Amino acid sequence: MKHSNRRVFLMQVAAAGSALTAAGAAQAQAPLVNEKDPQAMALGYAADSSKVDAKKFPKHAATQLCSNCTLYTGKAGDAAGPCGIFPGKQVAAKGWCSAYVKKG
Ligand code: SF4
Repeated sequence: MKHSNRRVFLMQVAAAGSALTAAGAAQAQAPLVNEKDPQAMALGYAADSSKVDAKKFPKHAATQLCSNCTLYTGKAGDAAGPCGIFPGKQVAAKGWCSAYVKKG
């Protein structure tokens, strides 16, 4: 009996370990910001900078992209990366929001 309890315990440890590994992988591949998220809506975030409403955001320019924004910490060439405004999420490299600050 003792033996089988130990076996169950070891199996649980193994299962917990793989769950943690999965969580780690999920963090590396954080989900993309959804344009419909309340925070994204409030900032006028668009996954495609060319689709930003020019009437709503007259200061927006097509050359402004998350990939050239100060708050973007993704790697050059990646399709998406982290942004300080959306912790735990990724923004599209070609995205934009009204908090855009040109990388200096
Ligand atoms: S703050 Fe910059 S990187 Fe973040 S979503 Fe807005 S434009 Fe993109």
